[in-house]
Formats: sequence, structure tokens, C-alpha cells
Amino acid sequence: MTVIGVLALQGDVREHQSALEGAGAQAPAVRRPAELAVLDGLVIPGGESTTIDKLITTFELREPLRQRLADGMPVYGSCAGMILLASTILDGRPDQEPLAAIDMTVRRNAFGRQVDSFEADLAVAGVDGDPIRAVFIRAPWVESVGDGVEVLASVTGPDGGTHPVAVRQGNALATSFHPEVTGDHRVHALFAEMVRAAG
Ligand code: GLN
Repeated sequence: MTVIGVLALQGDVREHQSALEGAGAQAPAVRRPAELAVLDGLVIPGGESTTIDKLITTFELREPLRQRLADGMPVYGSCAGMILLASTILDGRPDQEPLAAIDMTVRRNAFGRQVDSFEADLAVAGVDGDPIRAVFIRAPWVESVGDGVEVLASVTGPDGGTHPVAVRQGNALATSFHPEVTGDHRVHALFAEMVRAAG
């Protein structure tokens, strides 16, 4: 069975594990370099990106994670996970160190504060059928992408502009929203398919 770990330092780990299991994958929690080594793919959950970033260093995961990502291990980041996968973070903490798995600039808390959290029905390229119910919780948006980054979905922000909220570059996928909280496993199924295709 495909083994897709969930980085379990902080955030909504359990919800991602359930969604991945719903998509037919085995989904262990990952906290140690040795646990990272045996994975076919990895999910970085939503939560607080500055906290997860610090814990990646504390748990001595930064170098092994960089190495596995550089070797092409598929990775999916939702919300805080998206921020961590960016190459550049706007409105981040100065010491926040992006993993640069996707050539994109991401703006933290772009839609506003906690009270500005919202939901939208969103067509996501690569996900067939009805639109996805996309839950945005103090979400980032993608400010700009480099060549080779595919925009899978966008929304109109409070500024009236159109902003990407789901992107893919090679084996790396990121969404501003939280498909793990809706019971709809199609985004996780898309990622599980990417993991199987890479294996
Ligand atoms: N605002 C959070 C951050 O900067 C992300 C919120 C989330 O993951 N729901 O990390």
C-alpha cells in the first residue's frame, strides 16, 4: 500500500490521516528522520507555519526533509503547509525558512484575520465532478509563480484581484484551503495518485 506520512509536529494531523486513509493510502504520523525515510509521499498539514517551521528545526528534520524533497518525494501542503513549501514568504516571520519545494511567493494571512475565514465552491483542475467545498482559515494566497508551476484553482480576494489558491509543480502540490476538514477526499486522492505515479 502507498505510504503517505503526515508531518505531525503541530496542526490538523488527524484530519489529514483520515482523508488519506479515505483515499486508500496508509498514513503514519511523522516526527523523526527515520520515519521520513520510509515514506512514498508526505503531507504538511494546516496549523501555524511559524510554529511548524521552528519544530522542523527542533526535531532535526530540516536537512532530511530538504534531501527527500530534492530527491523528488511527492509532497502536499495545505494552508500552513503551502506556506512552508514556498520559495518566498511574504508577511512571514523574518526567521521563517521556506522549504522551496514550489517556485512561488506566498502571502501569509492574505485574506485577513481569523474573522475573515470563509468557504467557497471551487473548481480545481485535476479534480473531476462537483466543485470542491474549499475552507479557508486565515489562509495564504499565492502572490506569484515561476515557470513550471501550474495553477489549479484561483479565487477573487477582498482586493478584487484573482489569486491562485491551488498549485502544482512536478511532484509538489499545495492548497490555501483545507480539504481535510470536509469529508471530501478528492484532493487527497489526486495527491495519492501523484504519489503512485512517482513510485
Ligand atoms: N495563518 C497560518 C500560518 O501562517 C495558516 C493557517 C492555517 O493553516 N489554517 O501559518
